[in-house]
Amino acid sequence: MVSRVIPVSSFDLVIFGATGDLAQRKILPGLFRRFSVGQMPRDARIIATARSEIDTDMFRADLRTSLAEFAPCISGDAEMLDQFLATIVYIHLDVMSQEGWSELVGLLRRSAVRAFYLSVSTSLFGTIASRLSSYEAVTPESRIVVEKPFGNDLAIARALNADLRQGFEESQIYRIDHYLGKETVQNLMALRFANALWEPLWNSTHIDHVQITVAESLGVEGRGEYYNRAGAMRDMVQNHLMQLLCLTAMEPPSRFEPNAVRDEKVKVIEALAPANPQEIVRGQYRDKEGQGSYREHAGDPTSRTESFVAMKVAIANWRWAGTPFYLRTGKRLRARTSEIAVVFREPPHMIFPEMENRRSNQMIIHLQPDEGITLHNTIKEPGPGGFRLAEVTLDMTFANALGGQTDSQDAYERLIMDVIRGDQTLFMRGDEVEAAWAWVDPIIARWEEARHAPEPYDAGGSGPEEALMLMHRDGWRWREIGRVEDK
Ligand code: NAP
Repeated sequence: MVSRVIPVSSFDLVIFGATGDLAQRKILPGLFRRFSVGQMPRDARIIATARSEIDTDMFRADLRTSLAEFAPCISGDAEMLDQFLATIVYIHLDVMSQEGWSELVGLLRRSAVRAFYLSVSTSLFGTIASRLSSYEAVTPESRIVVEKPFGNDLAIARALNADLRQGFEESQIYRIDHYLGKETVQNLMALRFANALWEPLWNSTHIDHVQITVAESLGVEGRGEYYNRAGAMRDMVQNHLMQLLCLTAMEPPSRFEPNAVRDEKVKVIEALAPANPQEIVRGQYRDKEGQGSYREHAGDPTSRTESFVAMKVAIANWRWAGTPFYLRTGKRLRARTSEIAVVFREPPHMIFPEMENRRSNQMIIHLQPDEGITLHNTIKEPGPGGFRLAEVTLDMTFANALGGQTDSQDAYERLIMDVIRGDQTLFMRGDEVEAAWAWVDPIIARWEEARHAPEPYDAGGSGPEEALMLMHRDGWRWREIGRVEDK
């Protein structure tokens, strides 16, 4: 099976913050990969801008080094690399000043799609959107792409939305959550809505609970200043975990169309019951065997910021009443793992005595480090010697089913191509982001009011003991972080 690459139409992509970490590590290497497989038209252009006073040659030379590191498989093709670099021009532009804007706008073609990617601090979004508008850079075929974090609370998110909407229609605004660009996250929608098999089981009658884990093995080294103001609730729960929850829990949209999908996601967020403070655990990692503590890494010896959150969430609607969703995310945990575990109810009547110690059926949607879907079943252990049960894992990884063909497309490059195509399905809508903040804000406000101190947990462990208790109380255990026997 050959993967199909459908070229997108010609575009001018302006990257604000092109010298920064995200642009050099993800955006530009991703574009290079799309260029190398022929998806990016040869007349497409990338206009890189940042504050640094360098010229196009210097920018291209630096980018060569980044591509060698972040797109190593293809950067050895010297001809391809030169062709790609030739699509890029660099303009020095401090967005706070009025200089450089006319030059930038003068470079843009009327006939091509215009995409403005804001890979800069959120505090610059409003200025850039209003300058683009006042310099008449915005055409009907223009789109603006903004990075997370989209605000720090509901009030700021609303203000950002208002800023962006001064120059752009909602249909032109692309709020990135790169988790939505993951192949498996999209496959979850295909699995649920392209098969008749799962949907009848996808409710509280058959699903006992859902565990969503986004665990990181790294700490906050180098990002302490930002993270100390944010914490895990703002940095991860409000966006990535919320998105995974929505895709797992949403009703089938009537069409696979951006607003139909996003309407259903908003309904899930609006159906979330207010979080019970007794069912939320905040943690902060402490040093274990020289790995360093959060406070050291954040450069704040008295910090009360959480680097871990575990919580039990109830969705108050007919489909999910009685099925809790357990969310867990943290830094400096045992392994880097992201997954959604859908845990089915036990059979209503046990005819096999040894069944009592078996796990119930589980569908695991693996997002990191490897993507794939596995299904845990109990079968008869093959062979003679009595009737014994064994647990087997069915690997439903789509790439294997399609003859081992894996598309190495990274989430970022997929999303950038969606921007050019004008497909907003995998981007968050303004009201969706605001609804997520409206749910998260009271939790954070309560912590701040009570000067809540997070529970310490060992660096390299599984999180605070209290998080384990959160599930134990309900008779369940978290899936082990980084378990490998499934794959
Ligand atoms: P970064 O490494 O600090 O880069 C910031 C970029 O913004 C640099 O290119 C910088 O240009 C430019 N810049 C700053 N002030 C400017 C101004 N006044 N005018 C024009 N350009 C200006 O940041 P980053 O890590 O790439 O992050 C960029 C955005 O993506 C942030 O909103 C961040 O929250 C978000 N994000 C990043 C990641 C990640 O993995 N890095 C992940 C998710 C989201 P000079 O260097 O030339 O001054």
